[in-house]
Formats: sequence, structure tokens, C-alpha cells
Amino acid sequence: MIIAPKTRGFICTTAHPVGCAAHVQEQIDHVKSSPPPAYLPRNVLVIGSSTGYGLASRIVPAFSAQAATLGVFFEKAPTERKTASAGWYNSAAFQSAAVAEGLYARSINGDAFSREIKQRAIGEIKASMGPVDCVVYSLASPRRTDPRSGEVYRSCLKPIGQSYSQKNINTDKALVDEVIIDAASEEEITSTVKVMGGEDWELWIDALMEAGVLADGATSVAYSYIGPQLTWPIYRDGTIGMAKNHLEQSCARIRGKLEPKGGRAFVSVNKAVVTQASSAIPVVPLYISILFKKMKEEGLHEDCIGQIQRMFADHLGDSPPCDKAGRIRIDDLEMREDVQAAVAAAWERITTENLRELSDFEGYQDNFLKLFGFGLQGVDYGAECDPMRSLDLVE
Ligand code: NAD
Repeated sequence: MIIAPKTRGFICTTAHPVGCAAHVQEQIDHVKSSPPPAYLPRNVLVIGSSTGYGLASRIVPAFSAQAATLGVFFEKAPTERKTASAGWYNSAAFQSAAVAEGLYARSINGDAFSREIKQRAIGEIKASMGPVDCVVYSLASPRRTDPRSGEVYRSCLKPIGQSYSQKNINTDKALVDEVIIDAASEEEITSTVKVMGGEDWELWIDALMEAGVLADGATSVAYSYIGPQLTWPIYRDGTIGMAKNHLEQSCARIRGKLEPKGGRAFVSVNKAVVTQASSAIPVVPLYISILFKKMKEEGLHEDCIGQIQRMFADHLGDSPPCDKAGRIRIDDLEMREDVQAAVAAAWERITTENLRELSDFEGYQDNFLKLFGFGLQGVDYGAECDPMRSLDLVE
């Protein structure tokens, strides 16, 4: 079939296997052309490893430290008539590149929140890898079934206390308009914390420790975001912000469990990048478009792979630099005063008419399509393409 993007808002229902492989290869090349990082784990478990920050967190240790990696994700397999989700193709490309270099690289496709998938990962670690010395938790999910009660929780992106109106971009029509979002109910706040907070991260660490498959001295990292004040009502002070606070509280508890065995746990505050998760947050795509323009002009721009490479290089070695709250801050360049001042000034002025002058909306769109394997150099998008790609999955 000929595979073209089918997008609506922040959703793209097709993905290009050759394009996704080219995107993965770009990230591998980035790692190979960077100096080896200070932190070189050997056996890595990445939960949420198929796209965005989790995929980068798998690529960096594999291709800089020749680490064995077990990836967990929830992706759609292809059929003869329908493409797979991008994360499936990314993982297939990652695995074949890793295996070609003699690296262990297997994956589990299923619900990471469930007990069954945790046990499957533990079984595989016992059988094939040996204890893991690094666990990256990089899930972004709209829902979670609590493994104890069976109750289903849905996350939402809403302000707390009062409704919030702010500039926003309609990415389909390239229109700057305004969005008004009603305040979350108590139940929506609790549900978002259940899905995107740190409960499941801690359950993973507990399960790995109980099974004896977490190496002494292991490091675990999960990701958060803070961003500028203009997004705080929808992010930091909103439902997702409450979940991220919970992630930090869980981090403290996990640290308490790992430290007696020489281990470490961190929340890393990362930069805003275009991913499937971030494109679904109101206001954020317009902010990212403006941010990218300034960061590219200043030569400060990084995407997931640049961020995670820097995290392994500068922030996970011995005595890692952290902020007062003990967090890793690889959002330092985004949050630089001059960068934020320029973004705030553009934010005040931005309209549909000057969108392309004041922001890198084109870069945003290119980046979004790239998530699904479209717009990569050297890929013949007019050619017939077989959507089938196999993945070595632990069943
Ligand atoms: P993403 O959408 O690119 O990746 C999400 C991953 O989670 C995928 O691998 C997906 O398969 C997996 N997943 C979702 N539900 C699952 C389930 N039930 N079981 C197994 N796997 C499941 O997201 P991302 O933007 O890379 O986000 C990862 C983390 O980074 C999140 O905690 C997010 O808050 C954080 N973060 C993102 C940004 C950003 O700008 N994108 C910035 C800072 C921090």
C-alpha cells in the first residue's frame, strides 16, 4: 500500500514503517556521534519504551553503553490492510538495529499497569538478562486499571479551582484561537493522579525487588515537566501537575527502598518536546512552537534524544547535580531567563496572522509528522510499502 499521514488534531491514525525506522536510525546516529556518557548501565528496563522520551531512554544506553534492554509498551500490531502504531514500528527498527550489533533487545507489548505484564518482565529478566541496574519509567497514558481493585481510572488535563482560558492553536487549521477549560472535579483530580502519578512506578520497583531482579546499586528515573507560568493553570497547578507531585512523593519512597542497597531514584524534569502525549495538552503546542523558534535561534534546541543523551552524560554519573527538591533539571535551557522572556513577549503578540513569524509552527508540524514516520529524508513516500513488520516479543 501507499502510506500517507491521516491526521486529525493531535491524532495520526497511520504510521510509515520505513519512515519510523529512519527516525530511529537518526536517534541511533546521534548517540553514536556523541561522546560516551558518564553513566553506563548494563541491563536496562524501560517502561514506555516505544515513543518519545522512553524510546530515547532505550536508544541511549543500548548504543552508548551496549546495554541489554527490555522495553515495555502498549502498541498496535499491523495487519495486511492497516498500519501498526508508530511505537510498534519504532520498536521493530530499534530491535533489529540492536540485534545487528549483538545486543540483547526484547520487548513486551501489553498493559504495563497490570500484574501480568510485571510478572512477564520479571520472568524474562530472570531467564535472559540478569538483574536490571537501570529502570526508566516513561509512561504517558489516558487510563489505568488498578491491578488491586480492577477499577478503571481516566486521566484528564484540566485546571483546578477555576476554569482557565488561554491562547491555543488549532493545529489542523493553523489558527490561533482561545480555549476555555472547565475546572476539574475532585474525582477527575484523583483519577489523574491514579493514572499519571507514581503509584505504578513504585509497584514496578516493589515487584522487581521482591523477585530479586533489581541489582544492588540500581538507578531508577521517571520524567516530569514544570514549564513556564503561562502553562501552570493547565500543567503544573492542574490535574497533571498533581499527578507529577505524586510522582515526586513516590520517588522519595522509592529512594528510601533503593538507597540501603546503594541504589538511587530520581525524577528528571525534562524539556517540552513534541510527542504523542504533549500534543494532546491544550495550550502546550502553541507554547512549544514559540519555544522552538527561540531555542533554535540560540542553538539550544534539543529533542528527546538530545535530552536523554545529556541526562546520561551529565546528570546520572557520580554525585549528579540536582535542584533543591532533589530533581534532575534537563529543562535548564528551556527555563533560561532570556529564553522565557522571549517566549513571553511573543506569546503576548501572537495571532493567526503572525503565527509563522513569531513561532516555529512549521517545525512543530514537521516534528509531529515525524513521530509517525512522515517527512524523513531519503524515504520514498510514493513507493508501495508493506505495513507488516515483526517484533521479537516476550509472550
Ligand atoms: P509518549 O506518548 O511518546 O510515550 C508514552 C509511552 O507509554 C509509549 O511507549 C506507550 O506505548 C507507553 N504506554 C502508554 N500506555 C501504556 C500502558 N498501559 N502499558 C504500557 N505502555 C504504555 O509520551 P512522552 O511525551 O515521551 O512521555 C513520557 C513521560 O515524559 C511522561 O511521564 C511525560 O509526562 C514526561 N514528559 C514529557 C514531556 C514532553 O514534552 N513530551 C516533557 C517532560 C516530561
